[in-house]
Amino acid sequence: MRHKIIAGNWKMHKNAQETGSFLNDLINEMPEGKEVEVIVAPAFTNLMLATQILEDTNVAVAAQNMHQAEGGAFTGEISADMLTSIGVQTVILGHSERRQYFKETPALLANKVDTALRHKMRVIFCVGEELKDRKSKQFQNVVFYQLKDSLFHLPKEAWEHIVIAYEPVWAIGTGETATPEQAQEMHQFIREQIAHHYGNLADNVTILYGGSVKPDNAKTIFSQPDVDGGLVGGAALNVADFTAIINAI
Ligand code: PEP
Repeated sequence: MRHKIIAGNWKMHKNAQETGSFLNDLINEMPEGKEVEVIVAPAFTNLMLATQILEDTNVAVAAQNMHQAEGGAFTGEISADMLTSIGVQTVILGHSERRQYFKETPALLANKVDTALRHKMRVIFCVGEELKDRKSKQFQNVVFYQLKDSLFHLPKEAWEHIVIAYEPVWAIGTGETATPEQAQEMHQFIREQIAHHYGNLADNVTILYGGSVKPDNAKTIFSQPDVDGGLVGGAALNVADFTAIINAI
């Protein structure tokens, strides 16, 4: 069901002590009475600690990645079963850093999505164009194929477990943000493409914006009609900034 979400992607930041102290501070600072789901995505090694600290709170825990196989000889990898067995029900897939540095292809990502859904996990699926695609006006085309190649094979009922995060690659970690109009244009486009393939359920899909969301730009981005919240990197590493962003929704 479509709802507001603020998710923090911690990437390869914060050890166990830092994770514990951030989360305890976050619990104390969490805004009350806000209709927003808050999610944090720490490193694999700190997921169990995070689920324990956040057990009786309304902050959810997500993994930043997951392997597509059920198990086996894949040294260094983490399976869906390992995640759900410690209470992690959400996974971020398709982040541009996974696509760029780890060569994750649309077909591989489709496989990962299928595995996550088989385990009844929720997927935050990232899409977004590079700067060259924006400059050549191919940005909608690129995002369309990212959706089509990894998600449009899914049956209708699977969409209940899918959240989209639109993250223009040129805005991730660069301080450069899409304008609220650019964000709205793409979010609307994404919703239209989902509607084109699946009909009315598109209205129920949560679509997050990600790319240098900060306390001072969050409100205008979140005020766009098709923007349902944010996937936040850098500003999610600091409790004051993260709570300010939660308050901006
Ligand atoms: C991200 O990595 O998903 C992200 C949006 O990072 P940042 O907010 O730092 O641009």
